[in-house]
Amino acid sequence: MKEAVVIGGGLAGLSCAVALADRGLRVTVLERAARLGGRASSWIEPVTGDTVDIGPHIFHSEYHNMLAFLQRLGTSRLICWQPGKVLTIASRPRPVRLRHWPLPPPLSLMPSLLAAPGLALPDYLSMRRVALRGMTFGEEEVDALDGMSMLDFLRDQGVSERMIDWWWRFAAMVVTNVPLERCSAASLLRIHAQLSGYRGLHFGFGMVGLGDLYTAQAAKVVEDAGGSVRTGAAVTAILGEARAEGVVLAGGERLHADVVVSAVPPQELAPLLTRPFDGLGAFEPSPYISTYVWFDRDLGMERFVSHPWSPGRLNYDFYDLCQIRQGWRGRPTIVAANIIYSHRAHGMTDAEIVRATQAEIAEFAPAAANANVVHADVHRIPMAIPCPLVGFERSRPAAASPLPGLVLAGDWTRTHMPCTMEGAVKSGMLAAEAVLGAPGTLATPSRLYDGLAGIARTMAARRPPE
Ligand SMILES: Cc1cc2nc3c(=O)[nH]c(=O)nc-3n(C[C@H](O)[C@H](O)[C@H](O)COP(=O)(O)OP(=O)(O)OC[C@H]3O[C@@H](n4cnc5c(N)ncnc54)[C@H](O)[C@@H]3O)c2cc1C
Repeated sequence: MKEAVVIGGGLAGLSCAVALADRGLRVTVLERAARLGGRASSWIEPVTGDTVDIGPHIFHSEYHNMLAFLQRLGTSRLICWQPGKVLTIASRPRPVRLRHWPLPPPLSLMPSLLAAPGLALPDYLSMRRVALRGMTFGEEEVDALDGMSMLDFLRDQGVSERMIDWWWRFAAMVVTNVPLERCSAASLLRIHAQLSGYRGLHFGFGMVGLGDLYTAQAAKVVEDAGGSVRTGAAVTAILGEARAEGVVLAGGERLHADVVVSAVPPQELAPLLTRPFDGLGAFEPSPYISTYVWFDRDLGMERFVSHPWSPGRLNYDFYDLCQIRQGWRGRPTIVAANIIYSHRAHGMTDAEIVRATQAEIAEFAPAAANANVVHADVHRIPMAIPCPLVGFERSRPAAASPLPGLVLAGDWTRTHMPCTMEGAVKSGMLAAEAVLGAPGTLATPSRLYDGLAGIARTMAARRPPE
């Protein structure tokens, strides 16, 4: 039986391990932390006894690889979907509720955007060239667009400054986790094309803790197939100079294997290699601060609300967990919120962050202003994802590494997806394909856009390259 060692028990490592175990390999997963799940993990908060995630996460209806993974593990029913609305942006004086109208993509979201306060007809018209680029966007454009920031790209395309401030600065922060001026135009345009190109794309949330969706279930699949999943098992080196032959663990234990899969972030991989590959040091983390607040009353807020971009904004996305978690309905409101690319909050104490978060909740749920905070929990996360900065897409390595016997997985690798749970699971599938020597058999590619976007994309793909 072929033996594989997988370093890292996050989504990429566990999805790869399950795929390999399902195909007859004996897999050993080595996870440094005491719990599995990595950046998509959860635990029991000791004061309240409630399960909290590292920070709130959203799924969407085009997460084909992630949803297939949950299907395999029998937990896909534990996602609570929000099909009627994409999201509410708590802009002033009125909120904007983004939902799909019965129009062919990418037109379906546009009627909702017409309600955005402060924008006028010339602002909408200024979007026409970018809208067209989004419709025809394909992976063949990534290298060229990756060399410029999205801000430069938008200005070059004639988008008005008001539209840039209202929509694009918000989109850059919430979907790419970096400010617009630093964000690769390729990374953001790809997400824009996906979000506007699919009919009825909508979001979902875990009804249980994130880790409870997949960690124990994945470990069971691996163990039932004769493998093992070890926590508290830090790998300190990858064995072999001309070929990866196994790993060394902290404490000196050596494990030999036919193939080693690295499913750790780039900054963790470099020290494990005798000769690090070029470019591993170029990835910059986007840090988060995720805050959980238990209130003493029902605030009457929507399930999922975002604040629009503004220079001083701390939290962008807010979730009422009592409308999401199984069995929590009827409890006083519990809010989870994310400070994305959180450098601006790093000097604040936890108490200051909780006070500021309460004030930001009160902007769309006024009852929060006078409510008492019963308990709060602040998670400081050094890296939610690697920043998709200018040049990021070109530096993402493929699953097959320069060192024979070593295969790479992780959200940051070349998946043609943003760094997300979906990207992590897709990377796990691509790594499993590389191990098995079976390209194109496990990972689900993004589908062709729907409606007018699909027609435009098909025509663009047929055009001969210039
Ligand atoms: C607060 C927050 C919010 C997010 N929001 C969303 C969202 O809304 N939607 C979405 O799709 N994605 C979201 N993400 C991103 C998503 O969680 C990640 O893209 C995904 O979990 C990455 O998985 P991974 O397996 O590639 O990496 P990781 O989860 O980082 O897994 C790597 C694992 O390797 C382990 N490891 C590292 N070094 C070693 C070593 N030497 N030996 C052994 N083990 C090692 C680590 O402990 C870790 O468990 C969010 C992330 C955070 C933190």
